[in-house]
Amino acid sequence: MAEHQDQVPLPSDGVSDTGIDVIVVGAGFGGLACAIECKRKGHRVMILEKVHESKQLGDVRFIGMLSFGINAGRIMARWGLHEKLWCISRLAEDLRIHDYLGGVIQVQKLSLPLFGAFSYSGHRGRLHDIFVEHAKSLGIEIRMGHQVVEYWEDEANGKAGVKIQTDGVKSLARQFVIGYRDSPKPSGYAIYRAWFDAEEHGVTTDPLTDFMSIHGDQFYTWIGKDMHIIAVSVGGGKVVCLLITHKDNTAVDGDWSSPGKIEDILDLVKDWDPRCVALVSKAPSCIDWKLLVHDPLPTWVSKSGRVVLIGDAAHPFLPSSVQGASQAIEDATTLAITLNLAGKDNVPLATRTWESMRYQRVRDAQLVGETTRDKWHGAKAGDSGKSFELPMPEWLMAFDAEADAYATYYRIARSIVEEGYRRPTLSGEELTEEVKETP
Ligand SMILES: Cc1cc2nc3c(=O)[nH]c(=O)nc-3n(C[C@H](O)[C@H](O)[C@H](O)COP(=O)(O)OP(=O)(O)OC[C@H]3O[C@@H](n4cnc5c(N)ncnc54)[C@H](O)[C@@H]3O)c2cc1C
Repeated sequence: MAEHQDQVPLPSDGVSDTGIDVIVVGAGFGGLACAIECKRKGHRVMILEKVHESKQLGDVRFIGMLSFGINAGRIMARWGLHEKLWCISRLAEDLRIHDYLGGVIQVQKLSLPLFGAFSYSGHRGRLHDIFVEHAKSLGIEIRMGHQVVEYWEDEANGKAGVKIQTDGVKSLARQFVIGYRDSPKPSGYAIYRAWFDAEEHGVTTDPLTDFMSIHGDQFYTWIGKDMHIIAVSVGGGKVVCLLITHKDNTAVDGDWSSPGKIEDILDLVKDWDPRCVALVSKAPSCIDWKLLVHDPLPTWVSKSGRVVLIGDAAHPFLPSSVQGASQAIEDATTLAITLNLAGKDNVPLATRTWESMRYQRVRDAQLVGETTRDKWHGAKAGDSGKSFELPMPEWLMAFDAEADAYATYYRIARSIVEEGYRRPTLSGEELTEEVKETP
């Protein structure tokens, strides 16, 4: 084990075959993590993905960057991927937070490792390629061009199996699991995303923008009324990523991402720090991506306990939480362990125990994103002295999903066996009425 990894004694690798057949629907970060973790925990796993080639996921959905929090980085390092991930990661040592006019509000140190692990941030497509390659190296079958079009359950349907739905924010499986149609809603915001070469597009030669390139990787944000701008450079300052979260109240019909117009962004930032205007004007193109939210679903587990929603299918995240993919990885890790500990004769108990372990934590992580966005969008010029840090609370980042699942499984599973399964509840939030079922 490399020296950067924390040394938690975990019964992870080399476990024997559990005889549990797992079908994972969707080869996004959640699905791939799920398949990798299931394989590590001895299950027989296969992925079905609707697109024909993973590079098709690269055009629209993977423009820009993605950051895995330390809580997910801890798991990914255990897969043996630290070196591969680290060498494509953003290496900025601090986040420079500005008001909309460009005054520095705060400089947040981003020292790594933190809580014994690393975070990894880089181009979404390259990170995804690393996940795909790793899954394939473990012998996981990924059936591309396989779209699931219908769900059903019956007695003969996979006695020792489970179907794990990581089919994203527009999940088809969601309706099957919760029993009614419930589509994501607009959050009131969308995000422009651009990713471009610094030298080719004049970032390095313009005195207003060269700060992104000449001192290596940078991580800047400007915050103000109803909008925030994130500018990141990677590869030693060679590539620039812009993320501009802005108000958007248009309907979500059809596609929720579309090519954006640079003129529209320039109009939004015209009164902001001239460095923002200059950076935006360098971007050759952008995608405008609607940010969707969901009220917490009443459950993530089907009636039979054999169809499960994880990742964005269960709980979409705002980018300001920087946790959507990380929580999908925690979901995957925990579920693979509960299946392993419950065994093939107790799959419904495993999935219900998993739901109980994850439900409140995921909600708490979601709320971090909303709080950060609202705090940033309330910032005024000269607002120094207040804390506008990107939150990295210990409860979120220091959490070890693998160790926690091993530590808590038997207590939670026993209470479900003894008291019966109840749909999850959230502290302080109203959900639909509880339904009691026996496991
Ligand atoms: C602009 C933006 C920035 C973000 N930044 C971050 C960040 O920095 N850090 C972070 O942690 N999170 C971030 N997120 C959230 C993160 O991207 C998601 O939470 C995460 O990618 C969800 O992964 P998933 O596997 O659940 O779903 P997806 O990535 O949506 O994958 C779903 C997969 O299922 C396939 N599929 C769908 N339906 C079917 C079907 N019927 N049959 C077969 N296959 C199907 C799809 O083709 C797709 O490959 C961001 C989100 C946005 C919008």
